[in-house]
Amino acid sequence: MSFASLGLDDALVRAVAERGYTEPTPIQTQAIPAILSGGDLLAGAQTGTGKTAGFTLPILQLLSQRAPAEGTKSGIRALILTPTRELAAQVEESVREYGKNTNLKSMVMFGGVAINPQIKALKGRIDILVATPGRLLDHVSQKTVDLSHIEILVLDEADRMLDMGFVHDIKKVLALLPAKRQNLLFSATFSDEIKALADKLLDKPALIEV
Ligand code: AMP
Repeated sequence: MSFASLGLDDALVRAVAERGYTEPTPIQTQAIPAILSGGDLLAGAQTGTGKTAGFTLPILQLLSQRAPAEGTKSGIRALILTPTRELAAQVEESVREYGKNTNLKSMVMFGGVAINPQIKALKGRIDILVATPGRLLDHVSQKTVDLSHIEILVLDEADRMLDMGFVHDIKKVLALLPAKRQNLLFSATFSDEIKALADKLLDKPALIEV
């Protein structure tokens, strides 16, 4: 199995090859075609399985293929929510690395650091935003972020986000997103609370468990 045979474009295949990956992991083998098909996804995956590339690569491809005309400011098109700043930083680094042969721009946003540099960065072009829920809502209340162009939403480590008490924050964010969008939920465990969130969020999701 190769990354190219999963339907990924050359720009992305080259980036993963340069990263040193020779073969997709099981979650990547399943998630990449499912996400490229445009549908919702419910994935049971621990960290260390390669889940980050599993959602990052197809998102980069979908956004590149549907790119707005050069020079137009389209707004943020994919939102990836993570429970912690460490994970947010790590995911955004992956987005940047795998997306280095595309013209997509990303930004990471989390709390505990000054908000003004983030406000400034949000004035530029951002296609993919990786954020922790609390700081994202700070920007929402200050009207410094526009979530009305989101095409793809990812909840990464959704169980940890719920454990950390982010359920209300997540629901507030969901209410601000366009109704028509692709939703991807990644979680290591499936409590009743996660199942309820998945039910509310996902429309006929593909199911993956690794
Ligand atoms: P993740 O589960 O996304 O946190 O990824 C776990 C680790 O696996 C990271 O260090 C990745 O760089 C690495 N990784 C992801 N995909 C592959 C792959 N196809 N082959 C080898 N390593 C990978």
